[in-house]
Amino acid sequence: MIHKANSSLYDCIIIGYGPTGATLANLLGLCGLKVMVLEREAQAYHLPRAVHFDDETMRVFQTVGIAEELSKKIRVNIGMRFVDPEGTLLLDWPRPQEIGPHGWYASYRFHQPDLEHILRKALGRYENVETRSNSEVFSVKDQDDNSIVYFKDLTTGKKDSVNTKYVVGCDGARSFLRYCMETEMENLGFNERWLVIDALLKKPMPELGDHTVQFCNPKRPATYCRSPGDRRRWEIKLQDHEDENEITNLENVWELLKTWITSNDAEIERKAVYTFSSSIAKKWKLGRLLLAGDAAHLTPPFMGQGMCAGIRDVANLAWKIALCSKDAKDDSLLHSYQSERSPHVKAYIETAIHLGGLINRADNTKALKAALPNQDGSARMKSIAPKIGESLKAGSSEHRGKLFPQLRLSDSRLMDDASGYSPVLLIKEDINSYNLNLPTGLIVISSESEKEVTACLQNMGTDAVLIRPDRYILGTAKTKEELNDLLSFPMPSPLHRK
Ligand SMILES: Cc1cc2nc3c(=O)[nH]c(=O)nc-3n(C[C@H](O)[C@H](O)[C@H](O)COP(=O)(O)OP(=O)(O)OC[C@H]3O[C@@H](n4cnc5c(N)ncnc54)[C@H](O)[C@@H]3O)c2cc1C
Repeated sequence: MIHKANSSLYDCIIIGYGPTGATLANLLGLCGLKVMVLEREAQAYHLPRAVHFDDETMRVFQTVGIAEELSKKIRVNIGMRFVDPEGTLLLDWPRPQEIGPHGWYASYRFHQPDLEHILRKALGRYENVETRSNSEVFSVKDQDDNSIVYFKDLTTGKKDSVNTKYVVGCDGARSFLRYCMETEMENLGFNERWLVIDALLKKPMPELGDHTVQFCNPKRPATYCRSPGDRRRWEIKLQDHEDENEITNLENVWELLKTWITSNDAEIERKAVYTFSSSIAKKWKLGRLLLAGDAAHLTPPFMGQGMCAGIRDVANLAWKIALCSKDAKDDSLLHSYQSERSPHVKAYIETAIHLGGLINRADNTKALKAALPNQDGSARMKSIAPKIGESLKAGSSEHRGKLFPQLRLSDSRLMDDASGYSPVLLIKEDINSYNLNLPTGLIVISSESEKEVTACLQNMGTDAVLIRPDRYILGTAKTKEELNDLLSFPMPSPLHRK
């Protein structure tokens, strides 16, 4: 028997409490929305997964107020090297060792369960966010003015339902919501089985090094990652004939690891076989149902960007849901979600597939060229920073859709700490001289008192720039008309962390 749908209306039901769902819950909590997270499992996922995230992702963690606590658990990544079976360096991808334009290091190493624990703990700040573990969503009904989510409490067997304005499926690679939306995945062509092992060192082993190393051995491609503390990660490609159950047998795992470590050096913490694949959902929104994270896209992990893409999804989505949940009739803003995010994540997936090609191929020189179509033939990899796809329009289009850097303000605060999850207008002069009706919720920073703002506007060749809560540029303005156009864009209320 299903109990009658809970009469109170939620703004958003999030299915799945992985890193994507937990970050979305924090962002929506910040926006003051009434949210429920439904998670099938009793505990966070225990198998080895993400070990890397970037500066943009760290800005989102800063926004939800966990950067300080997370900083104690992570290490700055020095870079990635690709070597051939003789150990010759094929490709170097050094990562900057100083704070970059986003106010953080470009690349970090971490342990996914640490992050998930911190994200979940942070949700304790929001009375408006409920979380329910052991709760499996088994049906969703999308209606014109709301949706109903049906779930089962796996400890009692009791079925229940809730009404909500929006449902976001952060429910992973085998997303149930994606199945309900009847959307297919576009396969981008990469499907390989890899054995992933986390080992805990029993003694210091500096000879393993601090770089991530891609061992481009066509017979047995492998990756080594220097995780924080004593933890080290190996990812090893399986051959077609190899049986998953047999290969994960401890004896076979040690046999595969013997080039680097033995059981005298470390203990195996976790091991699992994954099929690394590459795909993007064809439809990210249907009515009031939306997909985010692994539910919307999958990438091989060679760039360490799968989870990062999910965090970008929800930074893009949360302020739009916050605005649309106030105006039940108009959800046009949400139509930009897929058009902005899908091409962006595709650029990362395609680069990861190129890198995978380099690790796998017998002819490494040819593969190197395929992975790095640089005209100067350089074997030094650079990070990519694509614009978001076809985006919301306001003001002048110059710079629209680029990620805006994080400036340091004269009172020494980072800009995102000053603005919270709100839109920010940077403007050349005193805003009062324009005689405008400023929307509530907009943070205005004038170059009058801020040197970095002056320099930044000068570099961009503009007089004003409007930055969205997800830190992407909405538009720029040089004239009063352009500024008016920019400011006519709907703004979320001020969104500051508690
Ligand atoms: C070996 C490996 C290495 C990786 N390395 C990196 C890396 O270095 N950097 C990086 O950025 N990414 C990396 N990734 C990818 C990253 O781990 C994933 O992208 C990320 O965990 C996805 O998070 P998610 O929250 O979207 O989904 P998940 O973490 O899969 O969470 C989905 C949740 O939904 C729940 N759920 C599913 N169905 C239901 C239902 N019907 N009802 C209720 N709950 C439900 C599940 O129980 C689960 O908890 C790696 C992945 C692997 C496998």
